[in-house]
Amino acid sequence: MTGEVPEGSSTAVTVTPVLVAELLADGERMPVYVHVIDHPDGRVLVDTGLTQLHPAVEDMDPRLMPLSTQEGFDVAGIDVVVNTHLHFDHCGGNHLFAGKPVYVQGVELEEARSRDDYTIRAWVDAPGVDYVAVDGGHELLPGVRLVPTPGHTQGSQVVVVQAGGRSVVVAGDTAVFYDELDRPRTEGQRLIRELAPDEVWLSHQHEPWRPANASRAVLAD
Ligand SMILES: [Zn+2]
Repeated sequence: MTGEVPEGSSTAVTVTPVLVAELLADGERMPVYVHVIDHPDGRVLVDTGLTQLHPAVEDMDPRLMPLSTQEGFDVAGIDVVVNTHLHFDHCGGNHLFAGKPVYVQGVELEEARSRDDYTIRAWVDAPGVDYVAVDGGHELLPGVRLVPTPGHTQGSQVVVVQAGGRSVVVAGDTAVFYDELDRPRTEGQRLIRELAPDEVWLSHQHEPWRPANASRAVLAD
């Protein structure tokens, strides 16, 4: 399965995408994925998708597959939540994890709470949501790091998973399209490339970006 760290590594850590919604963007259906990182020391959920409709995003005609209704997804089994950023399609399920620590960059939390038209604020501060505001890099678990990657939003962050000699990034919207990693433009996109990851999972793509994609793109130029 893609995203899995090869067997035989001393620490088995896996990254699994879960489709939670589809949105209409520029006339096309765009998937919304969240990612589960299974680590021997805990299970981390990166982003939470959305669980309900809202007038503010009606025009995107959301089709929802909330985590709470997915057979085989154990909401109670999540130990830690990370928000890559706080746009509505990344924090709308935070309320499902009331009482669990939700890691977010402090800058992002400030922006989401103060800027108009930034997100659906009621979803950010839903009852029981317990943020841990981080300022910069942070080691969440051994081999699992939060890295700030400004660009898509000022307070965006990615999760870098290093295990079994491989490096996998869960990038949220730091890149929305593969092309943005083939030819990085923002500080955050450049940072991801500097990490030289084997795979980068994006919230709105079915498959991870891989460096091979980039060499192909260059050859095609
Ligand atoms: Zn998004």
